[in-house]
Amino acid sequence: MNPKPTTAITLSAPTPLHCQQRSPSGRRCRMAVSDPVSGLCFRHAALQRQRRSEANFVDALIGNVEEFHSAEDINHCLGGLLKLLARNEIAPRRAAVMAYTCNLLLRTLPAMEQQEKADDMFICDIPSAVRDRALLSLGVSPEDIRRINASGPAPASDSEASS
Ligand SMILES: [Zn+2]
Repeated sequence: MNPKPTTAITLSAPTPLHCQQRSPSGRRCRMAVSDPVSGLCFRHAALQRQRRSEANFVDALIGNVEEFHSAEDINHCLGGLLKLLARNEIAPRRAAVMAYTCNLLLRTLPAMEQQEKADDMFICDIPSAVRDRALLSLGVSPEDIRRINASGPAPASDSEASS
């Protein structure tokens, strides 16, 4: 004997006929609903859209991050953006632009890491560059310097090699 499958029926709240906005004294707006999502009349829906587009989300999204040079910073910003969007506190279009910008920032991270590695390599190569310049000032030809560099790592110093 199999139990009959039960189907869950969720009843959504009926769309209100009148605007859900209340005045500071508690009186409800009597205009008809024009935006079923928010349950507001055209006037209050427009005011809500304006508030969302003008709201300042610097603290929620950026905090004290100066530059977005790590995936962690960008992830923090995206998380804050998702929270604002889930709470319906930010205009979806504005959130989409911010998410797109975060995506662009994430895409530049690998290039920045490569740049940092290249900078590190340049710094590591300074001793040989200094040595090459010193050899040039001593009158060693550039071809001889290239031959010295191709033969392998230079000895630690001339004084150690002679003693
Ligand atoms: Zn209203």
